Amino acid sequence: QREDGTITYTPGANAYPPVRLLNPIEKQRILVTGGAGFVGSHLVDRLMLMGHNVICLDNFFTGSKSNVAHWIGHPNFELIRHDVVDPILVEVDQIYHLACPASPVHYQSNPVKTLKTGFFGTYNMLGLAKRVKARFLLSSTSEIYGDPEEHPQKESYWGHVNCTGPRACYDEGKRVAETLAYSYQRQEGVDVRVARIFNTFGPRMNWNDGRVVSNFILQALKSEDLTVYGDGKSTRSFQYVHDLVDGLMKLMNSNCDEPVNIGTQEEFTIDQFAQMVIDLVAEETGFCGSQVVHMAALEDDPQKRKPDTTRAKERLDWEPQWKVIDGLRETVKYFKTTQVGSEI
Ligand code: NAD
Ligand code: UDP
Repeated sequence: QREDGTITYTPGANAYPPVRLLNPIEKQRILVTGGAGFVGSHLVDRLMLMGHNVICLDNFFTGSKSNVAHWIGHPNFELIRHDVVDPILVEVDQIYHLACPASPVHYQSNPVKTLKTGFFGTYNMLGLAKRVKARFLLSSTSEIYGDPEEHPQKESYWGHVNCTGPRACYDEGKRVAETLAYSYQRQEGVDVRVARIFNTFGPRMNWNDGRVVSNFILQALKSEDLTVYGDGKSTRSFQYVHDLVDGLMKLMNSNCDEPVNIGTQEEFTIDQFAQMVIDLVAEETGFCGSQVVHMAALEDDPQKRKPDTTRAKERLDWEPQWKVIDGLRETVKYFKTTQVGSEI
């Protein structure tokens, strides 16, 4: 464990990492849907290390058993293969609802399924929260702001989304998921939390994830050209996964039931970001022969994105601790040590 409270753990070790022993009264039963995915598996690690009982539920569409393999067999851990589009009954105190593909490549490959996951998946998990009186946290997204006309984006901004475009299955799925959460709160008294997550990266991103961070790192490690879609002037603010997990846990255990942006102020144009990855890979490996190439722009690609995180600071006392460059270094090391281009 680092001084700032974040935990680094190398998966694949032979023994379970040591977990805290909690008094029975402190120990919560926690469901993490999408727990075998990139963000979910880091959250599972943190909850397990804290000594909670964790149920990880996943249909393995974009996640992988290997992300949580180091916990299989641990008495505090259960892994369930299940699709959230179908109801399930488990006795839990808290539900982190993350199940949903997050990469444009994956969520656009089956837009109807993405919408079913956004609506029925959230509906089922809220129904479960109501039935077992669990607190419910929704992993929403900066995408609900669409291609924003306000910059940076505050939680009060209603967004600018094309409801018929190729990204709509995800954006509108998350928007209706938020609406469901607040409808269950109003009508049924369910205790809800809503995290609006901005672009996040780190180890365990799938090599074929298709999002910009993994694409660029893999291209740079193979000395292939970095494919920038459009003119490279659109922006994103990237956060390291440990900061996000801190934010999710702080939000879950706070009394803040309004939506909260979780993301960083470090904003880059995609061109700047590409160059940063090339420089970093050259530094880490001694050589990188990649160039930046511009391709056709993607339809409805948001032009800028940066969160206003005042609410997270004031209500959760949360601020990102990781600089993008440090997080990127960890991520490059991860991709270097897992076989580049192999299924993990
Ligand atoms: P991911 O694709 O790695 O993880 C999603 C997980 O959900 C995978 O394990 C997948 O198999 C599982 N899943 C998908 N559909 C399912 C279904 N119908 N039933 C059960 N499991 C299902 O993505 P991630 O980056 O870890 O994202 C996790 C959550 O955070 C998502 O809800 C995503 O919308 C949200 N989010 C992520 C980011 C980011 O930059 N990573 C940004 C905004 C929001
Ligand atoms: N992008 C890119 N090259 C890639 C992948 C993505 O230029 O290989 C761009 C994409 O067009 C967008 C930004 O990087 O402007 C972030 O894309 P990503 O898919 O990572 O996430 P988004 O924020 O769009 O959901």
